[in-house]
Amino acid sequence: MKNRRWRGLIGCAVLGALLIVLWMREMGNPSPVLSYADFWRMAENGEVRSVTLGEGAEWQVTLQDGSAVRTPNPRAEDGKERLLALGVDAREQSGPWPGLLIAVAAGIGLLALLRGRQGGGAPGLQKYAAVHADERVPHVTFADVAVSEDTLQSMRDLAAFLRDPEAFRRLGARRPRGVMLYGPPGTGKTLLARALAGEAKAPFFAMSGADFVQVYVGVGASRVRELFRRARKAGGGVIFIDEIDAIGKRRDSGNDEREQTLNALLTEMSGFSSGDPDSDGIIVLAATNRIDTLDAALLREGRFDRRIEVGLPDRAERLRILQVHAGSKPLDAQVDLAAWAGRTTLFSGAQLEALLNEAAIRAARRGGARIVQEDMEKAYCAVTVGDERPGRLTEEEKRVTAWHEAGHALMTHLRQPEARLSRITIIPSSRGAAGYAMSVQPERQLHTRGELAAMIAVALAGRAAEEMLLGPDNVTTGAANDLKKAREIAAAMAGEWAMGKTGDAQTDEKAILRDAMAEARDVLGRHGEDLRRLAEALLQKETLTEAEILGLLPE
Ligand code: ADP
Ligand code: ZN
Repeated sequence: MKNRRWRGLIGCAVLGALLIVLWMREMGNPSPVLSYADFWRMAENGEVRSVTLGEGAEWQVTLQDGSAVRTPNPRAEDGKERLLALGVDAREQSGPWPGLLIAVAAGIGLLALLRGRQGGGAPGLQKYAAVHADERVPHVTFADVAVSEDTLQSMRDLAAFLRDPEAFRRLGARRPRGVMLYGPPGTGKTLLARALAGEAKAPFFAMSGADFVQVYVGVGASRVRELFRRARKAGGGVIFIDEIDAIGKRRDSGNDEREQTLNALLTEMSGFSSGDPDSDGIIVLAATNRIDTLDAALLREGRFDRRIEVGLPDRAERLRILQVHAGSKPLDAQVDLAAWAGRTTLFSGAQLEALLNEAAIRAARRGGARIVQEDMEKAYCAVTVGDERPGRLTEEEKRVTAWHEAGHALMTHLRQPEARLSRITIIPSSRGAAGYAMSVQPERQLHTRGELAAMIAVALAGRAAEEMLLGPDNVTTGAANDLKKAREIAAAMAGEWAMGKTGDAQTDEKAILRDAMAEARDVLGRHGEDLRRLAEALLQKETLTEAEILGLLPE
């Protein structure tokens, strides 16, 4: 008994000493304080090397010359993203005083040791995982996200499930398992996942695939299990795994750590299908910009088998995103957000948000009370400069794409009357097409020669429309995929299916292509007015829905 008290006293003394030493270090921190505005100016000039973000009153900053400074923590949500976008190494800190936390942890560990107790499992690992998860119910909701109606509807279904999983079971509906959000960076995938949790008043558990790599074998897997364990304990919630490609890439490189992590994830998710009631209220969402690189095992039935594309916003969506983010900012009446939506083709939601944010910073710098048009212009330059992505389509490129896609659509309408034109857009898809005209074709086992010829004519109509707009000397490379597809069909017709006239496959293939191109030119030429009307509408709205297309086309 006496012995034990002594141990306790020694433990406390050691802990106290540790705390004092660390406290003195914190207080003795002599690094100068930089104003927030100066800090961002330096960050934009590339003078900042790294920043340690945290919950404390200040961020710890290391400049390129190695010197340490501090700057006030604005506690704004997007700081990290902006820093990362500027190429600054921005790291999260676990708490206001990590040194203190470590000291406390060390002290407690020491005490436990002195008292002859053993900690179970691997407490260090669990603590690390705990630091990363954000278990509160987010306060964002779907009202904070501007995405397409289709995407939002899918998300509403998920929210309904989360609110009342029991009702889903009673109805015999299949429970949603894994949902893969895919699309370009900054389009709101993370925001959607958080809004889902916020909407369903469920806790949010997030991790990034990048957190799993570069660690010791087994750690990633244990973090995955820990994440699910906590979600179950909380009675459900949204588990979000950002950048899942970091662990879910096709398994060709034989990376053990990644493989184990991925297997742990798949195992946890298979608990859903075995009807484990504890995982009832859990939905797993993952996000990727690169769905094409993912391991097929991940996308299989019962895993991430629901896919939701979160694409770049079209003009109307951009306006809503601007409105969402302008909501809290004092905007001068002369700033016309609809006009800005028109000028920001191919901007992601994150870039639109950055545009308004930059404008607000500029307004603040000059001491203005409102964001004026001039601030927006300057912000526009700041956001677009040095952006190497094909982030801007010129007006000319937009026009060519609009005509090209209108050509496909009109030809589909005229030559494939059974097909439904569900959508035309000049916003690039995640798969790299400049724009696309999407049609739903009837199911067929067999195709006639005429149907195949129509498919080729539809494929070539994009090029034919470009010719009409620009003249034959100015057609673009935008038709490369169309030409490939047309050639493939023509080759099969001339070869495998013996549909040519001469029986010489090469000659027949050429003739089929020549005839189809002539047909495309002829048909579009005769419907020039319709083509123009469709192209202009597309240029104006960027995306046309089925109803809008039907309203613009001849009977
Ligand atoms: P992703 O996960 O797709 O890379 P994020 O969700 O991290 O994109 O987006 C970053 C920020 O950009 C969001 O926090 C939000 O401020 C803004 N944003 C992006 N897309 C949208 C959107 N569709 N609606 C509203 N804001 C958006
Ligand atoms: Zn095309």
